[in-house]
Amino acid sequence: MEGARKFAHVSRRFYRPEQYHCAECQRGLRRAVTLSERTVVTLEGVIKLVHAGYRCPDPQCAGHHRTYRSARADALALPWFTYGMDIVLLVGRLRLREHQTVDEIHGELLKRLAPLGVKISRREVLYLFEAYSTLLRESLEAKDDVEWLAQVEKQGGIIVSVDGIQPEKGNETVYLVRDALSGRVLAAENVTSSETAVMRVPACASGGVRGARTGDDQ
Ligand SMILES: [Zn+2]
Repeated sequence: MEGARKFAHVSRRFYRPEQYHCAECQRGLRRAVTLSERTVVTLEGVIKLVHAGYRCPDPQCAGHHRTYRSARADALALPWFTYGMDIVLLVGRLRLREHQTVDEIHGELLKRLAPLGVKISRREVLYLFEAYSTLLRESLEAKDDVEWLAQVEKQGGIIVSVDGIQPEKGNETVYLVRDALSGRVLAAENVTSSETAVMRVPACASGGVRGARTGDDQ
């Protein structure tokens, strides 16, 4: 994951919040902070992204301190991870559903990422599997996360975003339900095409759910 690594195919992307207006006063949101600026490796290619947070420009507005994020940028990769969510999910599936060994998964990823000029290490595969396990666990623990609940209180509720990610075409889709304001994952479920998605979202946000939007398939 060293920064010095050279990638063959790099695309640049700018992400801004999917919302354009303040939920309180309807004024146009303005760019306020750079939430992250990083390189993400996905199965489709290497992406250099800038993720900008927007806020209401009116200091008198009750919603002034709320930072709006891009749900799409958050769905692309977990914070601090170079490898995209699609690769994390692929590792989880190969390990748990297809019972592949770490060496087999490592071999598979080396093959898949070779055209991109990316060479993943065995240790990184282990980290990715750990990330997958954490992701599933995190969703169960949201209602007991005191720090996050305090943030929900401060931001005045949550905005639910749902993203369907297909690690591979034709296989199952993983649905990630998150709070678009904090980026927190609330539920992650594997759903095969023959199943109906039933999501369990913890009833925890004291300020209530403010809105919902559905992301496109990745
Ligand atoms: Zn406002």
